[in-house]
Amino acid sequence: MHRVWNFSAGPATLPTEVLLQVQEELLDWHGAGCGVMEMSHRGKEFTGILEAAEADLRELLGIPAQYKVLFLQGGATQQFAQVPMNLLAGDQDRRSADYIVTGSWSKKAFKEAQRIGQVRQAASVEAKGQVADGFTRLPRADELDLDPQAAYLHLCTNETIHGVEVHDDAALAALLPAGVPLVADMSSHILSRPVDVSRYGLIYAGAQKNIGPSGVTLVIVREDLLGRAPAGIPTVMDYQVMADNGSMLNTPPTFAIYVAGLVFQWLKRQGGLAGMQAINREKAELVYAAIDASQGFYKNPVAADCRSCMNIPFTLAKPELDKPFLAEAQAAGLLGLKGHKSVGGMRASIYNAMPLDGVRALVHFMNDFAAKNA
Ligand code: PMP
Repeated sequence: MHRVWNFSAGPATLPTEVLLQVQEELLDWHGAGCGVMEMSHRGKEFTGILEAAEADLRELLGIPAQYKVLFLQGGATQQFAQVPMNLLAGDQDRRSADYIVTGSWSKKAFKEAQRIGQVRQAASVEAKGQVADGFTRLPRADELDLDPQAAYLHLCTNETIHGVEVHDDAALAALLPAGVPLVADMSSHILSRPVDVSRYGLIYAGAQKNIGPSGVTLVIVREDLLGRAPAGIPTVMDYQVMADNGSMLNTPPTFAIYVAGLVFQWLKRQGGLAGMQAINREKAELVYAAIDASQGFYKNPVAADCRSCMNIPFTLAKPELDKPFLAEAQAAGLLGLKGHKSVGGMRASIYNAMPLDGVRALVHFMNDFAAKNA
C-alpha cells in the first residue's frame, strides 16, 4: 500500500490510526456481527457510538452544559441557510443579521442569508484586483459597522480559500454589542486549538477537514437560541426539533458520526486541543518560514496576525512554474497542493491529521524547487 502526503483542503487526510481502526471494525463492530454502516441507528450499539462521540467532543471543546450538540446533514452550505432560517426569520424584535465578509465562504454565507431575510454587511475587507482575490486580512475594529439590534453576527473564523484565520476570539467577542450572539463557521479549523465556546451563540462546521468524512455537520448551539424558528419552517431544518430528538429525527449520517467519534478519541490521545495546537503551530511556522525565506520565490499575501494555521495559500513569483511545481510535487508524493481556482497558485492544507513529517517533506520539496528554479 502506498499513501502520499495529502494536502487537500477537504475532504482531507484522516489520521492513519483511525483509518486502520475503521478497517478492522468494518465488517464486525465490537462483535455485533455487522459493521456500523449496516446497523440500525436506533439500536443500542449506534446510540452508544453517538453518545460517546458527543461526550468526547464536549470534553475536547469544553462545551458548557447549556449548549446542545447536533449532528446534522447538508454540509456547512446548508448552515448558510439554516442559521438565518432559525435565528432571523422568526424574531420579531431582531429583524436583521450582520455578516462580516473576510473571504469566499463568509461571502457565500452572506449571499445565502439574503435569500432568507434581512442582512447587513457589517464589514468587508475585499479589495478587488489584489492577490488572492483581495481577502488578505481581518477588518480592524474601526472598520466594523455593527447593528446593536442584530439577531446575530456571523463570521467565518477560518477562510479555507484565502487562509485568513481569527486567532483572538477574546478581542472579537469584546467588540460585540451586548445581546448579539456570535455565529461562527469553523468548518476548516474546528478542533485545531482550544476555543472558548461560551463566547459564541452558535458554531457550525462541516466534517471533512478536521472531524471526519463528509456527510455530517456539527452544530453547537446555545439553548436560548433554540425555538426561534418561525412556524412553517421544514421540520428537518428546525434546530429545536433536531435537539429534541437527539439529532435522530430521521436517520443520521451514522458512518460519518462513527468515524468522527474515532477522530475525537485520537485527538484526546494527542493531548487534546492544547496538544494539537502546539503541533499545528509548529507545522504552520515551518511552511510560513519557508515562504518568507524564499526571497520572493514564494509569496503568501495574508497579514501576519491572521495567517491561518490550517490553510496556507501561496503563489510562485513565476506563474509559468505552477505546472512543474505541481507535477514534481506529485512525483515526490505530495498531493492536493493546487490552489483554489478563484485565487490560483498553491495551497497547503495542513489540518490536524497532517503529521509533522508530511510538512517537513513539503518544506524540503519547496526549498529544493526554489533552489533549482530561482
Ligand atoms: N465553509 C467553509 C469555511 C468551508 O471551507 C467550506 C468547504 N470547503 C464550506 C463552508 C462548505 O462546506 P460544505 O461543502 O460542507 O457545504
